[in-house]
Amino acid sequence: MGCCKEEEPKWLWVNGPIIVGAGPSGLAVSACLKENGVPSLILERSDCIASLWQQKTYDRLKLHLPKQFCQLPLFDFPENFPKYPTKHQFISYLESYAKHFSITPKFKQSVKVAEFDGVCGFWRVQTQDFQYLSKWLIVATGENAEAVIPEIPGIDKFKGRLMHTSVYKSGTEFINQRVLVIGCGNSGMEVSLDLCRHNAIPHMVVRNSVHILPREMLGISTFSIAMALLKWMPLRIVDKLLLLVANLTLGSTDKLGLRRPKTGPLELKNATGKTPVLDVGALSQIKTGKIQIMPGVKEITKIGAKFLDGKEGEFDSIILATGYKSNVPSWFKGSDFFTEQGMPKTPFPNGWKGENGLYTVGFTRRGILGTANDAKNIARDISEQWREFKGFCKNFCTTKNLSDNQGICF
Ligand SMILES: Cc1cc2nc3c(=O)[nH]c(=O)nc-3n(C[C@H](O)[C@H](O)[C@H](O)COP(=O)(O)OP(=O)(O)OC[C@H]3O[C@@H](n4cnc5c(N)ncnc54)[C@H](O)[C@@H]3O)c2cc1C
Repeated sequence: MGCCKEEEPKWLWVNGPIIVGAGPSGLAVSACLKENGVPSLILERSDCIASLWQQKTYDRLKLHLPKQFCQLPLFDFPENFPKYPTKHQFISYLESYAKHFSITPKFKQSVKVAEFDGVCGFWRVQTQDFQYLSKWLIVATGENAEAVIPEIPGIDKFKGRLMHTSVYKSGTEFINQRVLVIGCGNSGMEVSLDLCRHNAIPHMVVRNSVHILPREMLGISTFSIAMALLKWMPLRIVDKLLLLVANLTLGSTDKLGLRRPKTGPLELKNATGKTPVLDVGALSQIKTGKIQIMPGVKEITKIGAKFLDGKEGEFDSIILATGYKSNVPSWFKGSDFFTEQGMPKTPFPNGWKGENGLYTVGFTRRGILGTANDAKNIARDISEQWREFKGFCKNFCTTKNLSDNQGICF
């Protein structure tokens, strides 16, 4: 069956690429395309841009990396922004970005299925309301689309408050509470720190090994230092240097129950995507015992948890700092471009392009820096095809006499 069934009332022809997701990646690629004269349509499941930042992050969050590494292409942060902008500053920047490039996503369009139709050579993208058709599909739904909720025995029995960090806002709701934070990545550490600052009593579960690095070394961001050193030295040497300085400035984290992995922080990040923790104060609270380190959880009980070392504890609340995952496998069909975990199979730096007009932006495990590179590559690639295709699109819309409810013609 061909893709262009005129009797289907709810299909919309998109004269340009379809971008799924209006986070930083979707906005960046739309802006780069526009700069190259290519229109695009962003489909976004929520009712705002950057929904991860607006709806799923805690109040005290600041960018983990210095601002120069978190800028989107073609439009810089305001000069008066601090080195590590707050999440509110970052959101206001993204809103200005969308306004500057006149990007108007179609909100409340959750993509349920996207599939390439080999018969007519177009992508069919199905939301709850419409079926969109386009020659290009750009996947920008992010590495953090869904919260990971681990299966822990007994988790349903817990009578206290149980939440994922994606719904945690502030420690004000937990004053004087004993809180079990499960997970010790950046979110687990920062939520534990926030709990401390609100006179809660956090206990942080550390099941695996973890690299903790100071956010800055001698006033310079650790990330900047790593980036600079990597231009001159092999990755393993850079890792050794980072660990040497981390041990000198932070002391041995192993003694605190935070074992370091055998593989260095950058090598581990490249191999597994596991980000080192950039310490913003949690470590000193661990040293003073205000954040207590707990072993892995064996079982959740009605009133708390049993741990792998045989101990038990009572807790008022449990916060799952267990991370996020891509949701691509749930809606992207008919192609083996992605792994089961929803990441491109082709390794960095070539994972941004698939076959038949498929692209991905923001799946490099390199944060917004990776997004910016992907966006520029995609825009360059599509703009080359666009000139040829533009005429066809115009003819197509005219000959099909598309009206507003049938097609979008830019
Ligand atoms: C707490 C936290 C702090 C972080 N700090 C930094 C930092 O300092 N620096 C940095 O570089 N990175 C940071 N990151 C990583 C960060 O997630 C990304 O850099 C950035 O948000 C990625 O943008 P994105 O557009 O790829 O994904 P997202 O921001 O996740 O945006 C994806 C969008 O796609 C939408 N979507 C998902 N599925 C569908 C669907 N089926 N249909 C329609 N729309 C859909 C979502 O609603 C969302 O709006 C942080 C992440 C977290 C969780």
